[in-house]
Amino acid sequence: MSKRKAFIGGNWKMNLHRAEACALAQAVSAGCTKADGAEVAVFPAFPYLLEVGAVLKANPRNHVKLGAQDFYFQPNGAFTGEVSLSMLKDVGVQVVLAGHSERRHVLGECDVLINAKVRAALAAGFEVILCVGEKLEQRDLGQTDAINCAQTAYGLAGVKTEQMKSVTIAYEPVWAIGTGKNATPQDAQAAHLAIRQALTAQFGAAVAGATRIQYGGSVKPSNAKELFAQPDIDGGLIGGASLKAEDFLGIVNAAGH
Ligand code: PEP
Repeated sequence: MSKRKAFIGGNWKMNLHRAEACALAQAVSAGCTKADGAEVAVFPAFPYLLEVGAVLKANPRNHVKLGAQDFYFQPNGAFTGEVSLSMLKDVGVQVVLAGHSERRHVLGECDVLINAKVRAALAAGFEVILCVGEKLEQRDLGQTDAINCAQTAYGLAGVKTEQMKSVTIAYEPVWAIGTGKNATPQDAQAAHLAIRQALTAQFGAAVAGATRIQYGGSVKPSNAKELFAQPDIDGGLIGGASLKAEDFLGIVNAAGH
């Protein structure tokens, strides 16, 4: 693990109802009480943000941040079904995801929209996790680094150097998300290094060296340690394994909590 503090996110996606979400939040918060360990955030579904936030706050030793899986970049108005950043701030959200592969490839979000979201969230004072990652056919064509570097550069276009302290990149190969197939630690490390080089080209070596790059894609307690031991992997964004406290805490512990 590098000098960058590891960051572990639990992306609950469209899973868990109210009681389950609150119970999981309570267990995760109780298991993550060391301020000097990995940073941790959970991303519940919208209807439960307020209540999960209250559960986290009820623990006087809580170090788990409240995250949102999505938002719209406009401040308010006629955008049926969308949720604004000020609404998220109102319910205590600190960190947001942008560019998750399910939003790119299932909901059809493009780099232009993702970039607008990243810039709006940073301007509003949120931490942002920008997700990037290649599809299997792109990997097979040898385009992994080109796709990841382009998604990183587009996603961060117009972001100011001083805002980069609030940005984390999540490298999530699409073929590894929810499939049980993770990238090998060596393949993931190579992709992370290429992304860090893209950050160097855009923001300079100091910013690139300080920016955390999480790995995401079928991380489990059994493979987390080896992935997180790679020099350019700074924690993970976790889907399926974040839905069980024991598994998620196993992954947090693997990051040195
Ligand atoms: C994700 O959706 O960000 C993810 C990495 O999912 P999983 O861990 O289930 O592959």
